[in-house]
Amino acid sequence: MRAAGRVLRSLYAELFAAYGPQGWWPLPGRSGRRGFDERGYHPGNVAPPRDRAGRFEVALGAVLTQNTAWTNAERALRALLAAGVRSPADVAARGTRAIARLVRTSGSFRVKARKLEYLASFFDAQGLARAPDRAALLAVWGVGPETADSILLYGFGEPVFVVDAYTRRLLARLGVIAGTEPYGEVQELFCRAIGRNSAVFNEYHALIVRQAKEYCRARPSCSGCPVSGCPSRDGA
Ligand code: SF4
Repeated sequence: MRAAGRVLRSLYAELFAAYGPQGWWPLPGRSGRRGFDERGYHPGNVAPPRDRAGRFEVALGAVLTQNTAWTNAERALRALLAAGVRSPADVAARGTRAIARLVRTSGSFRVKARKLEYLASFFDAQGLARAPDRAALLAVWGVGPETADSILLYGFGEPVFVVDAYTRRLLARLGVIAGTEPYGEVQELFCRAIGRNSAVFNEYHALIVRQAKEYCRARPSCSGCPVSGCPSRDGA
């Protein structure tokens, strides 16, 4: 196994040099507004939303993108926003069947509608003025570590690293992990390598997703990959 600290610091530098700022988390509800592109990305601005509607939009998107591509989640999110669903109270007012119809494009839409209801009920009770307690968020039905940390990092600017399947695949190919380690163990590697820095965590997770789509796919395309010193290059 390679030393994680050095590899993770140089990986970030190489990915950032190759791809630049990613502008996460996208907020389709703000598309085209000043500082946001057509799809709601905001490159160079890693600050979380300052308002409750923006934070809740991140939470909605974090559930909708479970087990599906962001493009599908984005369509569902746009449908919710177009129907005026922008707050926990709006979700409760619509009811499960109406929400399910609106989020159909995100897949498993009946289950996701129920998850959104549980999450909305949680935020209705705890409010959106400040970051929720991570354990409390994890206790909400339908919210796992990746979803919770996406909400905490991108919705509230909390310094928690988001670990997903792309992270595990890339780090396993780089020889830093075996790939089967618990979520918290992989997350801790980033904290130790970088420090609890929400701005870097914001960009880093987005860059890993970009790298996993451009080069380090299920079947890697190593030619031209910007990551140096990878022991798995071309299946080595
Ligand atoms: S060299 Fe290949 S295996 Fe290594 S990170 Fe790049 S695409 Fe992935």
